[in-house]
Amino acid sequence: MVKDNLSEIKATLPQGVVLVAVSKFHPVERVMQAYDAGQRVFGENRPQEMALKQALMPDDVRWHQIGHLQTNKVRLIAPFVSMIESVDSLKLARVISDEAIRVGRRIDVLLQVHVAQEQEKFGWSPSELLDALEGEELHSLSGINIAGVMGMATFTDDQNQIRHEFMQLKQLFDTIKKDFMPQISVISMGMSGDYQLAIECGSNMVRVGSAIFGQRIISTK
Ligand SMILES: *Cc1c(COP(=O)(O)O)cnc(C)c1O
Repeated sequence: MVKDNLSEIKATLPQGVVLVAVSKFHPVERVMQAYDAGQRVFGENRPQEMALKQALMPDDVRWHQIGHLQTNKVRLIAPFVSMIESVDSLKLARVISDEAIRVGRRIDVLLQVHVAQEQEKFGWSPSELLDALEGEELHSLSGINIAGVMGMATFTDDQNQIRHEFMQLKQLFDTIKKDFMPQISVISMGMSGDYQLAIECGSNMVRVGSAIFGQRIISTK
């Protein structure tokens, strides 16, 4: 049951670690079970789906965009989204900032970093991100508040590799905080299979889906 899964996971989280319940592909009735159990932060990866759920669920839900976001979809979520965790280009950062200003908001974002070995994962490489931070634009976008970094490890059973990738992201976070942005505070890393390891490596935001809601039924049309 969603409620039992949630309380089991929450019992293992150290203080200060935010649990994002990843509700993508699950119907509102099921997401509401988590809400009724006290969960308030939810993650979705498709803007249309998030907008639909947002309209049906209570106003105190904090919605996090966690998957690759196309610039032409930003407008759908800009009025209400609480955090966009998947900012993977300057262009996207610029569009989010413009849309936020248009609707009179400042949106919290995370910079998504590619630390996994898999090709298909989105995000800046560490060196690309440091280059972008050397420039002025990321610092000058007044519609966004850069709150930290997000990353995903390779999908593998090799715990050493996963640990290595999480440590890489933690180190990058430390560098960015020291050299560019002292205000950042969020390291979003860890999913159902690896969130405990992620926390050991310094994560303070975990994005957990299947361990709360069970398997997703995904139509591949
Ligand atoms: C789907 C997804 C998750 C949750 O994955 P689970 O393995 O179900 O916990 C976390 N982060 C991102 C970016 C995702 O797309």
